[in-house]
Amino acid sequence: MHEFNKEVEALAQEILAYSLERLRDNPPLDGPQTPQELFAKVGNTITEDGLGGHQALKVFTDTLALACISTDHPRYLSFIPSAPSEHSNLFDLVVGSSAVYGGSWLEGAGAVFAENQALRWISDLAGFPQSSGGVFVQGGTIGNLSALVAARMRAREKYPDVVRWVIASSSEAHSSIKSAAEIMDVLVLDVPATDAGVMTGANFEVCADAYLAENPTHRIFAVVATAGTTNLGIIDDLDGVGLAAQQRDIWFHVDGAYGLAALCAPSVRALFNGVERADSFIVDPHKWLFAPFDACALIYRDPTIAKRAHTQHASYLDTLEDPDEWNPSDYAIHLTRRARGLPFWFSLAANGTREYSNSMQQTLDIAQHSAALIRQHPNLELIHEPKLSIVAFKRLGWNAAEYEAWSDKLLADQIGFVVPSSHHGEPILRFAIVNPWTTESDISEILATL
Ligand SMILES: *Cc1c(COP(=O)(O)O)cnc(C)c1O
Repeated sequence: MHEFNKEVEALAQEILAYSLERLRDNPPLDGPQTPQELFAKVGNTITEDGLGGHQALKVFTDTLALACISTDHPRYLSFIPSAPSEHSNLFDLVVGSSAVYGGSWLEGAGAVFAENQALRWISDLAGFPQSSGGVFVQGGTIGNLSALVAARMRAREKYPDVVRWVIASSSEAHSSIKSAAEIMDVLVLDVPATDAGVMTGANFEVCADAYLAENPTHRIFAVVATAGTTNLGIIDDLDGVGLAAQQRDIWFHVDGAYGLAALCAPSVRALFNGVERADSFIVDPHKWLFAPFDACALIYRDPTIAKRAHTQHASYLDTLEDPDEWNPSDYAIHLTRRARGLPFWFSLAANGTREYSNSMQQTLDIAQHSAALIRQHPNLELIHEPKLSIVAFKRLGWNAAEYEAWSDKLLADQIGFVVPSSHHGEPILRFAIVNPWTTESDISEILATL
């Protein structure tokens, strides 16, 4: 039997104590430091003799950790924060100590089974058929890319004579779509959004048909609709775009990295009508489904297409090619994978789906409450009625430098982390509320500084 030596035993206690304290108490926001500042404090940590576990841990807990912003802090409202539940965080410790290989059924059957049940819950919320399936990948960027690669493979099979491949997406789509197109060496057709920022079915049809009339050797192999833009939380016309795509034999992908989490909130479910038409979609549990980094659920209507696109073939992998076994590696751009969906699965299994709906509703309510406070605030102007949990607004009379200075001070004072964004070229502020522990008084405290 393998036993810890004394040093490792002591380290285990220290690490557990640190981890539990981190999870139990709201740690401060903290903030970045320069490489020079960090070097002055810790020097070169990679040495021939090694620092020993105790000392290396101290370097992390006393210095390095304090130079990382706590993304789960209730007043971290920038970008898209993270808000892992207690259960998901605690179970991540189990995943970390379990050496589960999450790429194949042969090696990770139990873990893959659990991940697939969690994916099934999401698929059912989206109205996908029982035959649908997918995999947890690192993030929305890889999820979008993997879905688009599958879409192009299917189109290549059906339309072998196409000269240029094209992805259609809204001008408001996430940057990862352009990045995927760049990697795939395909073109992007920018479909103009309405003034409200929505890609409608009609806009997509007109734009796509006009483009193809002018470029008869090109083919649009996929259209990407966004279900909750990252900046403002705007949801495209999923039903209209999905129908138009179906009529043209174009793969319909829904990027719901942030927004589709709200499928589990009955109060806003209707905003996503049409998602059931998708050929694939993504949602990041690490954003708004209370899971730790890094997990994106990537789901295909017909996973056999994805499997043809993504399975890696090599003599040392032949033994894994049993058609009845679900190998998560086969459904995205990756091979070795951590069973990264397990913390999400555990939390969902432990808390139940009702609790997920309730926590989701809590964040939606706080977003509405924030919007109400902003409407009453003499110096602020709401840009857009929040449909989901992103609240975007302007501070009247401020230029970009004043926004930056306010944001820097807010973090320096450890009140909150809210960075400026922009809308139609003008600086704005936005709160992205994904944390059920963000309270009305957290919001008031930040608004009082404006
Ligand atoms: C965050 C986001 C992505 C990218 O997801 P990552 O997990 O950061 O790679 C893609 N699309 C949308 C709409 C997002 O909000």
